[in-house]
Amino acid sequence: MEEIISLCKRRGFIFPGSDIYGGFAGTWDFGPLGVALKKKIMDEWWDYFVESRDDIYGVDAAILMNPRTWEASGHTATFADPLVECKECKSRFRADKIADGISESVTTEEFLATHTKCPVCGKENWGPIRKFNMMFVTHVGAVLPDDDAEIAAKNIAYLRPETAQGIFTNYKNIVDTIYPDIPFGLAQQGKAFRNEISPRDFILRDRECSQMEIEYFVRPDNWEAEFEKMYQSCDDFFKSRMGLDLSNINHLEVAPEDRAHYSKRTVDFMFNYPNGEEELMGLAYRTDFDLANIARESGKSMDYRDKVTGEAFVPHVIEPSIGVERLVLAVLSTAYTEDEINGEKRVVLKLPENLAPFRFCVSPLLKNKPELVEKAKEVYELLRKKYGNVTWDDSGNIGKRYRKQDEIGTPKCVVIDFDTLEDGTVTVRDRDTTNQIRTKIEEL
Ligand SMILES: [Zn+2]
Repeated sequence: MEEIISLCKRRGFIFPGSDIYGGFAGTWDFGPLGVALKKKIMDEWWDYFVESRDDIYGVDAAILMNPRTWEASGHTATFADPLVECKECKSRFRADKIADGISESVTTEEFLATHTKCPVCGKENWGPIRKFNMMFVTHVGAVLPDDDAEIAAKNIAYLRPETAQGIFTNYKNIVDTIYPDIPFGLAQQGKAFRNEISPRDFILRDRECSQMEIEYFVRPDNWEAEFEKMYQSCDDFFKSRMGLDLSNINHLEVAPEDRAHYSKRTVDFMFNYPNGEEELMGLAYRTDFDLANIARESGKSMDYRDKVTGEAFVPHVIEPSIGVERLVLAVLSTAYTEDEINGEKRVVLKLPENLAPFRFCVSPLLKNKPELVEKAKEVYELLRKKYGNVTWDDSGNIGKRYRKQDEIGTPKCVVIDFDTLEDGTVTVRDRDTTNQIRTKIEEL
């Protein structure tokens, strides 16, 4: 993990948030290469689940939502982690992360029985377990610091803790306007915010993240078959579009006592990260829990009317939910390779071609030969028109350029030399094998 974090910073993929001011816990900034990778991952997901299918539609809801959303969804009451404070040094921790063998619903007695020592001062003198709500609170409209608590409370809003509710609250809009055949899905990508008590593990547990979620609306009597289909699609997406090895994913059937109370089946896709197994994706059958909550809170019907029989019913929901940064890290850790070429150690990112920030790097063999530079520029423009993501490099010697392109995952380096001027062929050097072949420019 340390090596991946270091590569990410060194090559401009991911920086600590607000780095110049000493950082800001739980936030990360994506640099030029990180943005390119992240965007390709998100675009592949959108293409796979939305544009290549006839039954899933996109939405893009506002991050700030009416607070009744979070009353209805249960987040105001229950989106909380167990917080415990050390009475000696006043440090605060998430109880289930500093003691072994306890769950999120740990009680004060259970926690004290573990005899955990404070990770900061080493003492064992704890206050009670308190529920800490992870939603970020903000105020909307003209609220001043000296306004009384009542005015401030009236204007409270939350940064959304998930994108899902922005989908559910638009379900009725979609049914009323485009009236899709059932089953159908609504997909959304966007930012979500969680005030983690102790953010950690690089981009795995950050306070601000991007999510990709689908709410797939099905007939209640057909949820099992649709669940299976979605399950297969997710595996296929990870394998065919993300280049992940499915043997690195542990499909964990969540036991009934660990599932959310409304869910009858949940599969956690656990990925084998460098620092251990962590959730990459959750696939949950959510019954009509969310739509029923919205119907109750809004007083509006969430019925779907069958186009043939006219029968009205509230659809049930299957939800695949992915954290984008978690997927970025899964892709990076799959691609990260250290090997040895002619006795020399190298670091190479074996990214799939569809995800690599740059598809080609073009360079002249020698920087100080104008005729080579001119020809190389010509090839560069040609490839850029054809593929878009092509980079130029004429720094240092050719070996250094290869090392750099290996580290950022560029699959092919194209080098223009004196033979190019004679016969129109170039050297194409392969990232993974380091083999070099001569190819005609028009065959690139
Ligand atoms: Zn302490």
